[in-house]
Amino acid sequence: MISISREQFERLVHKALSDIPPDIRLSIQNVDIVVDNVASMNQIAGTGIENEMELLGLYEGIPITERYGYDMVLPDKITLFQKPIEAICDNQEQITEEISKTLIHEIAHHFGLDDNHLDQLERY
Ligand SMILES: [Zn+2]
Repeated sequence: MISISREQFERLVHKALSDIPPDIRLSIQNVDIVVDNVASMNQIAGTGIENEMELLGLYEGIPITERYGYDMVLPDKITLFQKPIEAICDNQEQITEEISKTLIHEIAHHFGLDDNHLDQLERY
């Protein structure tokens, strides 16, 4: 486990984001990416997860595959949870790696993939 400042963590988020292939990065539409310590009770409620320390990231919004007449709507939100990510990492490189994995997972939700599909994909 490692503990870094929020500022450092956010720097690693930017790094992870800039490492995402441009094609994918540029097709992300109207998504806020934010950092929080841990998920709130409300955020955990819909996930089926019992321990807030098990939730590394969360996508909240309307996947682009489901946007019909999508206009003037609040942006989607991807939240990265700093404490649970720190808890499974020993250095900054691992943190960057976990952030990337989590970001890509949540971005996939934005593109309309659900967790069942992602579970299958992530096994490879
Ligand atoms: Zn998911």
